[in-house]
Parts: sequence; structure tokens; C-alpha cells
Amino acid sequence: MAEQEYDLVKHAKRLINKPYNKIADQAKAASIAGKVKLIKEFTIEPYNGKGFELKKGQIVRYEIIEGPQIIDCMYLVKSRPTKEWADTFHSSSLGSHTFTEGIHFYSNSPWCRPLVSFIRDTVDNGMIRELYGELAAHSYVLHNGSCSSGLWEAIYGVVDSYSCHVGIAQGFLEVADEEVARFHIHPPSFMHYQVVAFDKVPTALTYYPGKPAIKIGDFVELLAHEDLLVSVSPCPMGDQCDTTAYENFTCYPVRVAIYESEDGPFETAPDPQRKTMNAVDFNLADRPKMVTGKIGKKP
Ligand SMILES: [Zn+2]
Repeated sequence: MAEQEYDLVKHAKRLINKPYNKIADQAKAASIAGKVKLIKEFTIEPYNGKGFELKKGQIVRYEIIEGPQIIDCMYLVKSRPTKEWADTFHSSSLGSHTFTEGIHFYSNSPWCRPLVSFIRDTVDNGMIRELYGELAAHSYVLHNGSCSSGLWEAIYGVVDSYSCHVGIAQGFLEVADEEVARFHIHPPSFMHYQVVAFDKVPTALTYYPGKPAIKIGDFVELLAHEDLLVSVSPCPMGDQCDTTAYENFTCYPVRVAIYESEDGPFETAPDPQRKTMNAVDFNLADRPKMVTGKIGKKP
């Protein structure tokens, strides 16, 4: 019976995440104990993306200050912003599609290392599950995407509306340059404060209102393991309480605060130094020493 219950995926995830969990827990404990100092704070205004730098060992807090407000976040490695970034596919493969504290955001191939750890979440996730079922959550990834103006035109007939594509690009134009903004034109973002459940058959998600579960003063915190360029878009779906027309979406500002440990930056996840090559470079080099499995034989 025990063998039948053995879950290879779960086992592999536990092993891969284990060394990073302890590091994330240290930062979480310090934050809860108030052993942090505020480095910087600012407000993200509705219908405006925001770009900023987050240094290795810093904590970023996104706080609800007026009403529930969905945010879409992207994290790029500052030293190679068009090569390595927090990847929604790797992060959900090694974690989950909906998430709360304890999930790490892994970078794309070939690096596949934690860039950010989700360390605190004050939202009443129990209330979200009571209201909308066991599968419901407010932080999630919808594989390699975020809302776009094309999608809003298709659904609501509005042309050139504000979307998270527009906001994320605005943020990267602010903190980086046009090359970076154009490269990430289809931003795979990490969403917070968006109540959803992957509860349909075939599997797809349902959107639920942000009120009453998400309250003023709620926040999420994430620890950066690398020097990052961040872009955050306040999603036009806002509090997600009225989605009957694009013009009925209601949005609010969000506070961002950046902290360090009282004693300097927090300990961060070591780079696993993976040796796998970039897939195009590997092909162009005639796939040296490529590892494969078996080829099946006809019985
Ligand atoms: Zn959006």
C-alpha cells in the first residue's frame, strides 16, 4: 500500500526545495519578529506599472492599502535580464500552480535556481477555501502569461486598454530599457491577490471576488536570492468584484516596501551551478555528450 502511495514528483520536489526552505524560513522568522529595517517604500498607482531594483538578500512587501488589488510581478536577473528570469513553468513544476508561503520562484533553463522565495502571506487563505472550495487561492501562475490588451479587446471589445502587458512593459522601460521591455513582451508573471480556483473540467480556472477575504493591511513578502530587476503591474481586474464589463473593473493603489535584516542582507540560496547548456547553443555545437534514455524495441 505504501508503495502504491509513493509520489515520485512530490518526493523529487521535496529534495530539490529542501536546502532553500531553511534559508527562506530564517528570513520569515526575522520578519515576523520585526528584526528588519525599512530601506525604501513607494506606491504603485492604478493603471501604471512600476519598475524597481531588488537586491540580493532584500525582502519586498506588497501591501493592500485601500482595497483588494491584483498585482502581476516579474523578476529578471539584473546582470542578464534577457537571459535569466523567474520562470512560471519551472516554478510550478517544482512547486505548484497556486501557492502561498514556502514556494520558491525558479529561473528558466539552464539555470533553474531559486531567484525569489515567497516567505509571508497574511491573507486569510482559510476563508478563501471556505468561500470558494479547497482548490481556491489568491496567488498563482497561469503558465507563461498575464492579461493582455488583445485579450481584453477579444472579451470586452475595448481597444488599447490598460493590461498587465502594458504595465509590465512600462515597469521595464523605467528600470531597464527598450530591449528588455521588448524581449519580455509576453511576460510570464506571478500573481497575488487574485482569487482563483482551477476547479473546472477540463482543468481551467474560475475567478472569484477579492472581497471579503482580502483586507486592508494584508501583505505578501518575498526574499530575493539575486540582484533583480522587478516590474509590477496592478492588474486592471482590480478587486475582481465586478467583471461584467472592462469599464466596471475597480482598481486601487498598492504599497511596496523593501527591507533588509537589521544586520545587513539576509542569507540567500546558493547557486547550484548547473552545467546544462542553452538548447540552441547545444544544437549548434552538435549536442556534445548528449544524455538520452532508451529506444523501445518492437516485440
Ligand atoms: Zn492583469
